[in-house]
Amino acid sequence: MTLSSPRGRVAVLGAGPAGMAAALGALKAGHDVVVYERYREARPAGNILNLWPPPLKALRALGVDTHDLGAPTDGEFRNVHGRVRVHVKLDEDVKQAYGGGFIGLLRPELYERMLAALSEGVIRFDTQVDRIEQDDRAVTLHFADGSTAEHDVLIGADGIDSLVRRTLWGDEPKREHRLHIFGGFTFAEVDGTVSNKCILTHSRTVQGSWSSIRYHGRDGHQWWVLTATDPDAPAPTDLKASAADLAAGFPAPLPGLIAATEPGNVQRWVLRDRPPLKQWSKGRITLSGDAAHATSPYAAYGAGMSIEDGYFFGRALRGVDLTDLAAVRQALQSYEDPRKPHTAQQVQMARMLGKIFHHAPAPLRPVRDFVFDHTPFLQKMAGDSNPREINKQLALIED
Ligand SMILES: Cc1cc2nc3c(=O)[nH]c(=O)nc-3n(C[C@H](O)[C@H](O)[C@H](O)COP(=O)(O)OP(=O)(O)OC[C@H]3O[C@@H](n4cnc5c(N)ncnc54)[C@H](O)[C@@H]3O)c2cc1C
Repeated sequence: MTLSSPRGRVAVLGAGPAGMAAALGALKAGHDVVVYERYREARPAGNILNLWPPPLKALRALGVDTHDLGAPTDGEFRNVHGRVRVHVKLDEDVKQAYGGGFIGLLRPELYERMLAALSEGVIRFDTQVDRIEQDDRAVTLHFADGSTAEHDVLIGADGIDSLVRRTLWGDEPKREHRLHIFGGFTFAEVDGTVSNKCILTHSRTVQGSWSSIRYHGRDGHQWWVLTATDPDAPAPTDLKASAADLAAGFPAPLPGLIAATEPGNVQRWVLRDRPPLKQWSKGRITLSGDAAHATSPYAAYGAGMSIEDGYFFGRALRGVDLTDLAAVRQALQSYEDPRKPHTAQQVQMARMLGKIFHHAPAPLRPVRDFVFDHTPFLQKMAGDSNPREINKQLALIED
């Protein structure tokens, strides 16, 4: 059953990009929303970030100010000698409309802008959810302090170790990519930087990359280096020195950017994802963001897809009476059905790129690099397919 102005009770678990976007989407659909977040604040899981145009369009549709949120960048893959292997050719009108195309930013500013769009009190901080149950009538959340709350619908935006996903679909180990990434940023002037670029460079075993950023109106650069690792090995003690070692031999400006970065602005992550799920929603509960489709940063799209999820979740709840279980089921299914192929493709593509560039057997690496340097294979795989996917997503998001 659908009503003209129903107000349902929506719970969102987690105040990352997925949770904030889902809350904005459900509020726009006219429902009452509470976001439960275990930490005292919306804590950005890291610093470096790029966003594709569809999340920017979704953010705007959700009422988030995206003006000057990041630096426009033109994306290229290069080999370590500077030869361009891939140019990510976004349409000019897309670039014009969405801040220059693929933007480089720092995560805290995205969080600030999303928080500013949410009314005070929507997020309950310091609130850890320990257990979830549902029946035909409602979802009950059990909190660490022993209290409970009832809602009509729950969306699990609780990240890669999602309690909601585990509750719905059971536990399974994360997929180890056997890769780690070091990343940082600097506003220092460094020789060799060029404005508005995102350059991904691969040697035989290491990716060393940098991108223009804007942060609170200030221009700078972020960088990252990525290579194979044993995920169980202890983290290096000096992250900046480890990053600099990996970037030695890469062209300017990468070594200079790392040298100019404050040690406190360098971070490291071990990369893991989860296999795509066949079904996200069950009864009155669904998933979004990393809880639904944790993705390696090779896609540079995990946060972006999380934001898109929130937009589509809100749209699916428009005009739906959330007390009506059949209507809820139908709405949640209509939310997840178009999201699954898009997100699964990004998860698998990101995983495959990690394998090709960092886990190819040593004798095959020269062959791989010859193919990437002298044939359009990589351009087709990474440079042409993504802009097509971007255009498809943009068309699905209403102005
Ligand atoms: C190095 C690196 C680079 C990346 N680069 C990019 C990029 O360039 N572009 C891009 O789009 N993506 C990128 N990503 C991916 C992106 O960071 C993630 O996909 C995104 O943060 C996922 O957002 P989320 O809201 O789903 O999860 P999270 O950000 O993990 O948020 C989950 C929230 O849920 C809360 N929570 C969890 N459990 C509970 C509980 N039981 N009770 C209460 N609260 C709970 C957590 O505290 C947290 O705040 C990158 C990731 C990494 C590691």
